[in-house]
Amino acid sequence: MTELRRALGTIAAALVILTTVAADAQAPTPPKREITQIRGDLYRFQNDFHFSVFLVTPAGVIATDPINADAAKWLKEEVTRRFNQPIRYVIYSHDHADHIGGGEVFADSATIVAHANAKGHIIAEGRPTAVPHVTFADRMTITLGGKEVEIAHLGRNHSDNSIVMRFPAERVVFAVDFAPVKSLAWRDFPNGFIEELFVSLERLEAMDYDILAPGHGALGTKADVADHRKYLTELRSEVLSRVRKGMPLEQVKAEVTMPAYAEWGGYKDWLGLNVEGMYRHLSNYRRGN
Ligand SMILES: [Zn+2]
Repeated sequence: MTELRRALGTIAAALVILTTVAADAQAPTPPKREITQIRGDLYRFQNDFHFSVFLVTPAGVIATDPINADAAKWLKEEVTRRFNQPIRYVIYSHDHADHIGGGEVFADSATIVAHANAKGHIIAEGRPTAVPHVTFADRMTITLGGKEVEIAHLGRNHSDNSIVMRFPAERVVFAVDFAPVKSLAWRDFPNGFIEELFVSLERLEAMDYDILAPGHGALGTKADVADHRKYLTELRSEVLSRVRKGMPLEQVKAEVTMPAYAEWGGYKDWLGLNVEGMYRHLSNYRRGN
């Protein structure tokens, strides 16, 4: 009897373990959400692989990309709990759905701001977010509770409506997707403007700040912007010399390996696509004999 009970006990324990493993395998991994202080009253909001920033003032909060509706609801609750301030402004970095989904969550208290070109895409593509209330073409400054954010369109780059937000008191710039930190460019430059991207990066380098807060990955500095421009310059030159020789794409992809950037994010998955996007762009852009 004791033997039988022991055996049954072992089976029961094994079943508990099996059930737990099965439940773990089925349960979706909850998103990683975190708020960290960047400097002063400026904070960074993480939702898995996406990041935005927000500025707390005595008259309310200036938020940026909501990321998606669930992330935005979480952020709204956390901001209320930690700072007891309403979100008064939401500024979209650009129109891409993975960064600006969920803007409607803030629409009850916030004025939503974006570049003029973003509004058209948001409406036409049916982005899952609130349509901006206020748009601008070149620059705009928002002042709230004695604090300030300067917003500027540095030209077309990763999209035709990407803007940067500079927080002068904190000496931080929030720039999304066109100036990644220690990372290759995203895939094959979809929706992008490669020649103009170089101009945007130069303009971003000329701005006054200490910390670059990107939309993905770790914080960086102005040196990271220069490094990314150097990478793109080298990539462009490597691909262009081969396009001029009439080399087919597959051979260019095999030859252009950019080993100096092997440690950067996206090297394994995106280098081939970066070459492909650059090849396509230069094939159309240049005029041979
Ligand atoms: Zn994007």
